[in-house]
Amino acid sequence: MSDERKTPEQRAQMTDIERLRHSTAHVLATAILKLWPDAQFAAGPPVENGFYYDVDLSHRISPEDFEKIEAEMKKEIKANHPFERMDVSRDEALDLGKKGRLAALADRSEPSKFKLDIIENIPPDESISLYRNGEFIDLCAGPHVMRTGNIGAFKLTSVASAYYKGDERNPQLQRVYGTAFKTKKELDDYFAMLDEAKKRDHRKLGKELELFVFDDDVGPGLPMFLPRGAVIAEELEKLAKETEFAAGYQRVRTPHIAREILYKKSGHLPYYAESMFPPMELEDKLPSLSRPTGFQPGEEEAEQDARPPSHAGSVTSDRYYLKAMNCPHHHKLFAAVPRSYRDLPLRLAEYGTCYRYEKSGELFGLMRVRSLQMNDAHLYMTQEQFEDEFNAVNEMYLNYFKLFGIDKYLMRFSTHDPAKLGQKFVDEPELWKKTEEMTRNVLKNSGINYVEVPNEAAFYGPKIDVQAWSVIGREFSIATNQVDFAQPRFFDLRYKDKDNTEKIPICIHRAPLGTHERFVGFLIEHYAGNFPLWLSPEQVRILTIGDDPKLIDYARSVLNELRAHQVRAEIDETSDKINGKIQRAEQMKVHTMFVIGKRDMEANAVSVRIHGKGNLGAEPRAEAIAEILLSIKERRA
Ligand SMILES: [Zn+2]
Ligand SMILES: [Zn+2]
Repeated sequence: MSDERKTPEQRAQMTDIERLRHSTAHVLATAILKLWPDAQFAAGPPVENGFYYDVDLSHRISPEDFEKIEAEMKKEIKANHPFERMDVSRDEALDLGKKGRLAALADRSEPSKFKLDIIENIPPDESISLYRNGEFIDLCAGPHVMRTGNIGAFKLTSVASAYYKGDERNPQLQRVYGTAFKTKKELDDYFAMLDEAKKRDHRKLGKELELFVFDDDVGPGLPMFLPRGAVIAEELEKLAKETEFAAGYQRVRTPHIAREILYKKSGHLPYYAESMFPPMELEDKLPSLSRPTGFQPGEEEAEQDARPPSHAGSVTSDRYYLKAMNCPHHHKLFAAVPRSYRDLPLRLAEYGTCYRYEKSGELFGLMRVRSLQMNDAHLYMTQEQFEDEFNAVNEMYLNYFKLFGIDKYLMRFSTHDPAKLGQKFVDEPELWKKTEEMTRNVLKNSGINYVEVPNEAAFYGPKIDVQAWSVIGREFSIATNQVDFAQPRFFDLRYKDKDNTEKIPICIHRAPLGTHERFVGFLIEHYAGNFPLWLSPEQVRILTIGDDPKLIDYARSVLNELRAHQVRAEIDETSDKINGKIQRAEQMKVHTMFVIGKRDMEANAVSVRIHGKGNLGAEPRAEAIAEILLSIKERRA
């Protein structure tokens, strides 16, 4: 397989659909060879939503070629050839490669150069296998479906260029992408979903609905929320604050930068350095220890006294980092006050802004950014409290999902790999075992939908990533939840237990609403910009029929009443015809329109119109406003 070789165990984990798609890649290569027998193939793995095969070919494949390639593929599927596995020795494989017989229909004058290179890189202890369908033989570890006829429906989707093994010093290949499903219906549904997703793309809607922008002078990956987008973030923050308050959290506030030493203590440096912005070198003149007259002893005194006297009055240089995570600051707040078992669980929450250095090629709208405002909190607890706390966190996730109408979600429970202790994972085998066991038990007992993924834990403990699917079935990773036994040790966090001994708390890191950036991006696509009233950037727009001064006065009094109740209301007083005003409001997806004509004014009423639903008719003004307030208060869908 392509750039990173998979282990035999990883390949065995190939899902049914991946197996089907990878098999389709072999059929694609078969078809390309029928048309262009000289084609040289490199890697052809399944990928998210499909597969590709990298090919070196003098003919430039374009989407115009897809029809004839697909026609050849159909013939191969119709022939219903079995996928036959053949185990061969390294020499046999090399021999076939030299004859050009690998990823080919017959012997050729040119050797199968990429396949020969792949064989050279197969570890000596790994066995080598070939797969054959019809005349086509490929170097491949499998697995495959039984026969080509098992491929129910497929389609080629695009062609791009890619360097062999992703290295730009290597030759450039053509990467042909496609997808495959068990049935034609699944294939059709998938493309219908893609169409809908295109319409809902948060980058497109973000622009049309004036929610957020990127600016070259500000920098890539640094989104700025316009007023209409900021409203959504503010509403989410309000929701988080209310929910967390009710759950016994306390809010803290911390700076955006910190000294290098903090991240060395946390273990983020050097391991996480690549994801952090480079440090700022600062020269600081430390204040002298000699006290100015009239100095009042207090906190500052303690701080100064803590410094080694040799530094006093001298200039030192220091490195500061933009914070990439809030945890170290929160740990310091835990340690700032002597803690006893009576203080636990202690739940410190902050919508903290973090900065992460994502490579520019990986930036993507609001989904992959360099500045992120995180729905963060750190929970410190005793071991006995772990189950209740962990369950309460999960409960919070589930309540949010319900509120946002997220019906499909999956929790990925990532555990450590004992072989990588001390490198990828903190070298505490017993604590890993214990923490993973505890977490697994809670997940099992709670009946939550989860899968276990080995070798993907965080550096300092098992991790739970939450994937959610939008209403149209687009998948998003929106939140994480981590159990941390290591950082409290690095920071020497302690509490005094009932028996007067000092103990180290467990820490849970959690961010159910993820970051504002990603969650707002998710919600834009989830709702297709048609936000429920409580989240709507503009909740009510008042549209007058005509511009009679008395009517305008009445409309403005309705506007003022709504605003006095904190409703985000606007008024369209332009001289346009009412249909034009309605069209403009519908375009901006304003949730509710109050259409006001002379008759409404005389009856002290408003005519209510809901975006996408149309006219609901006239209602007494007081009732219409009360209805709006209730819907917002209850955060109705
Ligand atoms: Zn294969
Ligand atoms: Zn954290």
